[in-house]
Amino acid sequence: MPELPEVEVILRGLAPSLLGRRILRLVIGEKRLRRESPPEELQEWLPGRAIFGLERRGKYLLFRLEGGVTLLLHLGMTGRLLLGSGPSPPLPHVHLVLEMEGGLALAFQDVRRFGQALVFPPGVEPAPLSQVGREPFSREVTPEWLAEAARGRSRTLKNFLMDGRVLAGIGNIYACEILFAARLHPAAPAGRLSLGDWTRVLKETRRILNAAIAKGGTTVSDYLNSRGETGLFQLELLVYGREGEPCRRCGQAVVRVSQGGRSTFFCPKCQKER
Ligand SMILES: [Zn+2]
Repeated sequence: MPELPEVEVILRGLAPSLLGRRILRLVIGEKRLRRESPPEELQEWLPGRAIFGLERRGKYLLFRLEGGVTLLLHLGMTGRLLLGSGPSPPLPHVHLVLEMEGGLALAFQDVRRFGQALVFPPGVEPAPLSQVGREPFSREVTPEWLAEAARGRSRTLKNFLMDGRVLAGIGNIYACEILFAARLHPAAPAGRLSLGDWTRVLKETRRILNAAIAKGGTTVSDYLNSRGETGLFQLELLVYGREGEPCRRCGQAVVRVSQGGRSTFFCPKCQKER
């Protein structure tokens, strides 16, 4: 599932081609995404408008269009945004194609259809954004703020990190990597961390997300950037997907446990329970 770095890489890849460009025509596939505006609304608001802004909030991509219209996309589990020269050939599992001036086409392909494509009329701020927490790179995120947000919580540190209503955009892969780098046990109660722990968590969060963006994101199954290329950060993962393999820091075997229905990978020696 694309997390913050993958969505950021997609945005940066799309921006030079899309900014200022007008949507001429919208082709809508037969199968619906899990959350998708009705076809007539998409057809009413998108064609004819130029794209003047592209933004990321958490794992959401926002297309700011002429006249104050916003198109919000979420890639779900397997969504891809592929930029090509139009008119687009019919690709399997393509749900939306934005055909643009200059012969460019942007296709939203999503095999499992957990993605979202919602359009919001002028002046209406997308409702899903009210559930999105603070951006990890925001100056408003400090060790003190994290400690405050976790105060009194018995939930595990890993689930706290993955809660998009607190910190936006961190999913399973990066949560595992951040906790390994910060040498914290994923099942530690979030409310018991010290300010020093939170300082390390925040520093490693920013370092790892930045490194992943620089490497074009992580491809473990489906993720491709807007040019159809895989990321490279999977080569630098230290614990995620490495069950039974030696920890790159101490040599102990990396273990996998299930937490909240998701696989957590960690080193039992470097990330001791305290
Ligand atoms: Zn280790």
